[in-house]
Amino acid sequence: MAREELLQKFKAKYGPEKGKTMEEALAFATAVHEGQKRESGEPYIIHPIAVAEYLLDMGMDAATVIAGVLHDTVEDGKDISLEEISRRFSPEVAHLVDGVTKLTRSGQKEYVTKKQEQNENLTKLFLAIADDVRVVIIKLADRLHNMHTLEYCTREKQIRKARETLEVYTPLAHRFGIGVLRSELEDLSFKYLMPEEYERIRSLVSRQQEERLKLLGAAMERMRELMQGAGIECDLSGRPKHLYSTYRKMQRNGVGIGEIYDLIAIRVIVDTVNDCYAALGIIHAEWKPLPGRFKDYIAMPKPNLYRSLHTTLMNKNGIPFEVQIRTHEMHETAEYGVAAHWMYKEGRTVQTEMDKRTSWLRQVVEEAKDDNEDNAEFAENVVKDYLGEYVYVLTPKGEILDLPIGSTPLDFAYRIHTNVGHHTQHARVNGNMVRLDYVLKTNDVVEIITSNTQSGPSRDWLNIVKTQSAKNRIKQWFKKANREENIQKGREMLEDAAKRQAVELSALMKPEFYNDILKRLTLPSLDELYSSIGYGGISSGQVIHKLMEMKRKSDKLEEMQERLQNAAAPAPHKPAQPAKPKPTNGVIVAGDAGMSVHFSSCCNPLPGDRIVGYITRGRGVSIHRADCRNMPRLSQEPERFVPVEWAASSTEDFSATVYIHVVDKTGSLLEISRLLTTMNVYISDMKAQTSVDGVATMLITFSVADAAQLDHIMANLRKLKSVIEVRRVNGGNGR
Ligand code: MN
Repeated sequence: MAREELLQKFKAKYGPEKGKTMEEALAFATAVHEGQKRESGEPYIIHPIAVAEYLLDMGMDAATVIAGVLHDTVEDGKDISLEEISRRFSPEVAHLVDGVTKLTRSGQKEYVTKKQEQNENLTKLFLAIADDVRVVIIKLADRLHNMHTLEYCTREKQIRKARETLEVYTPLAHRFGIGVLRSELEDLSFKYLMPEEYERIRSLVSRQQEERLKLLGAAMERMRELMQGAGIECDLSGRPKHLYSTYRKMQRNGVGIGEIYDLIAIRVIVDTVNDCYAALGIIHAEWKPLPGRFKDYIAMPKPNLYRSLHTTLMNKNGIPFEVQIRTHEMHETAEYGVAAHWMYKEGRTVQTEMDKRTSWLRQVVEEAKDDNEDNAEFAENVVKDYLGEYVYVLTPKGEILDLPIGSTPLDFAYRIHTNVGHHTQHARVNGNMVRLDYVLKTNDVVEIITSNTQSGPSRDWLNIVKTQSAKNRIKQWFKKANREENIQKGREMLEDAAKRQAVELSALMKPEFYNDILKRLTLPSLDELYSSIGYGGISSGQVIHKLMEMKRKSDKLEEMQERLQNAAAPAPHKPAQPAKPKPTNGVIVAGDAGMSVHFSSCCNPLPGDRIVGYITRGRGVSIHRADCRNMPRLSQEPERFVPVEWAASSTEDFSATVYIHVVDKTGSLLEISRLLTTMNVYISDMKAQTSVDGVATMLITFSVADAAQLDHIMANLRKLKSVIEVRRVNGGNGR
C-alpha cells in the first residue's frame, strides 16, 4: 500500500526511467528484509519505505530517496555487498548506503563504556557529514521514523533513543537549518523523556491556541486586504510554535504560557525581498509594533542561514502577536536548510553558503584525523564547537561569524584564517583594545591586528582558545616547528648527559638550579630550554655542567652550614652563631664571607690539591692549584693572593682531564675505558689521535671526587700494558 504510493509519487516527480530503478530498489529491499520484523510486529520493509517517503517529501534528489529504500540492506541483509548495490543501482547510491551503514554499525558494537560508544558514534557521524551531508539527512529521516515508532520499544530504549536524539540529532538538524526535522524530532524526544511535562504543555498550548486563533483570525483577514490593496502577492498562514521550544522558552525565561508571544505566529510569504520590506511597512502602519521586538534576519541571517523579518505587534485588544515575513526561497531554506541544496530542481544554483559551512566542518575533521587525536576528546570538542551554544560576532565589514560560547579573539582570528591566527598580535572589540583571552559576546565587532614580526602562536594560546579548530591549528604549527619533538629530544639528551656524569637528571632539575640558567639564556620556560637543546641551540654538556655546579654549591653550602652549626652550637638550645665566613663552592676564603668563588680552568683544582685564592677583577676569587703553571705570572701581584682551604672532604664530583700516551694497538681504548668503568669512573669526554710513529694520544675527561682519587686512577692506568705515559692535564708539573 505505502509501497505503491511511494512508487507513484516518485515516478511522478522523477520520471519513468528513474521510476524503474526505484521499483528495482523496492523489490530488492523487500527480498532482503523478507522475514524480518519491526518491534511493532510489522514487516521490516515498512521502515525503509517510510524513510524514503520522508526524503521524497523533503524534495531530496532521486539518489537519496533510493538510498533511503536501501539504507538497511547492507546492515541487515545476508551477504549483501556494496559492490552489488553499486552494480544494481549506482556507485552514488552505494556510497550513500555505505555512509549510513557505517553510522548504524558503529552504534551496535560492544564497547567498554557507554560514553566511549557515544563518542565513537559521534566521530563517525562527523566524518560522514564531512564526506557527504546527504548521509546525515538519510540518517535523520531514519531517526525520525524510529522515533515515530518508539512506542513499541522498551522504556529503557525509549529513554536512550530520545536522549540521543535530543543531544545529537536535533542540534544537527538545527545546525543544518532543517527546521522541519528538528521540531518533529524535538517534540518526539520531549514526549518520551518528560512525558508529564509534555502533556502539561500540550494541554496549555491547545487551550491557548484556540483562543489565539480566534483573535488572530481577524488580524489575518485585515492583513490580506491590505496586501491586496498594495498589490503584494502573499501566502498567509498561522504557524503554531512547537511544544519543545515553547517548553524551553518558558523554562529559560521563567515566563508563563501567556507571555509566549510567538505561540502562534502569522507567517507572510511573499515573492521578493522588496516585498518583504514593503509588507513590513504596511503592517507597522496598521498595528503598533512592540519596541525591541523587531528583528531583521534578512540583513543579518542566522548562522544556519535562516532569513526572515520578525516583528511583534499589538492587536486591538492589546494582545501581542508575532509576524514573520519572508520570501518563498527563504521559507524553503528555513524548512530544509542544507537539504535544500540536494533538492531536485531544474537549473538550481549551488548554495555556496551552505557548502562553506560543511567545508568548514570537513576541514576540522580532516585536521583532527591528521592529528591522530584521541577519539573521545575529538568528538567531545567537535560537538561542543559545532552543536553547542553560540555567540554571534561581527567582522569590521559586518560579516557574521558564529563561535561557541566562551570563544576568544584568538578563536575568531583562527576562524578568519589560519595565518591571521598565527600572526595575531592584539585584538580590538568594539574599538577597544582587549586581552587575547577576552570572552566574546554576541554583537561584538572584532578586529584582529596582526604582525609580520610575530613568528607564530604562543604555547599559552592552547589554554586560551575555545574551539577545537583553533586548537588544532596551533598544535599543527608547533608540530611543524618540530617543537614538541625538540622538547622530547632535548630532555633525552640532557638525561644522557646526566647519566654520563652518573647523576639522575631529576636530582639536577630543581628550580633553584635551573632558574639561573633560564635567566641567563633568556628562556621563558623549562620546555624552551629542552627545545633549544633538542634543536641544537644549546649543548646538553654545557647545561649539565652548569647544573652540576649549582648542585655542588648547594650541597657544599648545606654541609658547611651543618658543620658550622655543630661546631658553634654544642647545645641545641643555643641561638644561631654570628656570621662566619661562608664556604662557597666547597672552598673557604679567609676573612671574607661574600666573595664568589670559581675554579680556574687552567689547572682544574681538585679537593686535596694544595690551592691558593687569587682575587680577580670583577669575578671574585679564582682558585688555582699551588703548582699551576700560571703561578709565576700571578705572583707579579702578590697582594691579590688570599689564603683559601677546602671546606671539607667531599664525595662530590669534579672534572679532571688526563693525557694518556698509548701504544697504538687495537683494543687499547677499550682496555682503558673498561678499567675506568670497573673503577666507577664516568667518562664525560674523550679525544683520541693516532700519530705516524705508531703511538696514540688521548685526552680523557672524567669525574673524580678529589685529587687522591685522581692519583689512584692514574696509577691504575699506568699499570696497563699499552699505556706509555699518563699525565694530568693543565697541571703545573704533572704528577
Ligand atoms: Mn533504519
